[in-house]
Amino acid sequence: MAQIKCPKCKRNFSSNNTESFVTRGAAAAAGAGVGAWFGAEIGIVGGPASGIAGTVPGAIVGGLAGWFAADQFRRCPHCARIFKT
Ligand SMILES: [Zn+2]
Repeated sequence: MAQIKCPKCKRNFSSNNTESFVTRGAAAAAGAGVGAWFGAEIGIVGGPASGIAGTVPGAIVGGLAGWFAADQFRRCPHCARIFKT
């Protein structure tokens, strides 16, 4: 049985643990958060104003990526952290 290790609390849980399944909406939200941060990081290279501008498209791209990759996301049953496996 495959074990997944949480990157936050370092505890293992089974990949078949139904508590760990993430809905597409939740994965999209998690992806959007990462995407917004990523977009801002890229934008900051071009200046503070483009850092803000990069947040929105980053969130959209990240949200879409999360939506389509929902089966690759898991929620840790110990600390509720959502992360990509
Ligand atoms: Zn955890």
